[in-house]
Amino acid sequence: MFIGHYAVALAAKRAVPKTSLGTLTLAAQWLDLLWPILLLLGIEHVAIAPGNTRVTPLDFYDYPISHSLLTVLLWAAGFGAVFFALRRNKRAAVVCAVLVASHWFLDLLVHRPDLPLTPAATSSKVGLGLWNTPALSALVELALYASGVWLYLRTTRARDAVGRWALWSLLALLLLIGAGAYSAPRLRVLASSPGRLSDSGCSWHGRTGSIVTASCDRWPEACFFPLESVRLAIVPSAHLKSSSQMTRWQDDPMAR
Ligand SMILES: [Zn+2]
Repeated sequence: MFIGHYAVALAAKRAVPKTSLGTLTLAAQWLDLLWPILLLLGIEHVAIAPGNTRVTPLDFYDYPISHSLLTVLLWAAGFGAVFFALRRNKRAAVVCAVLVASHWFLDLLVHRPDLPLTPAATSSKVGLGLWNTPALSALVELALYASGVWLYLRTTRARDAVGRWALWSLLALLLLIGAGAYSAPRLRVLASSPGRLSDSGCSWHGRTGSIVTASCDRWPEACFFPLESVRLAIVPSAHLKSSSQMTRWQDDPMAR
């Protein structure tokens, strides 16, 4: 799933208005930030198998630590525990843990049955395969995104023009990134040129969005988004340090 993960981060703002969008996005995309690092370390593996699904040719045949249900629940608990240790906010810690776990369940909708239940090599794998019906998958993501944006907008108020424009630019960029994943030419290439396809592009959609979300207070940096996934994936901490500054621009919870 692409922008659906950002949708739940945006929506979560409603539950914990004082927690930064950067932190909520980090939680919602935690598994996909972890994944390329584990790939780099040779712990998890992926293959390019054209025709694997109609949206992505990536064959996620081995990602038991970042994407098995059991480890995901542990990551969720760990994320929530670290957040609580740092911020002493039980409600926000629970929301962050739920966001980490939500990633697996959203992936479940779109992946073919490649999501393991446990890290064991013999584990059964699940996935509802919406990626084989691109139109329906895109519709689900769009509906999620629209709901997330709506909830976020009802919860926050821009303090100035910069806050207003930065938010709308970010939302538009995420939408563009999501649309790119489902664009007709890209899907046509996937369907018609299996032998020639090198699809590093589809793996940076998710991670790029995380970096952009977390660094929208450094907007010019976001212009460099079309970098390859691995480089982006290993630098998030440097960017995320600045996420708390977003409060200055956008994360201004309205009293309700
Ligand atoms: Zn994922």
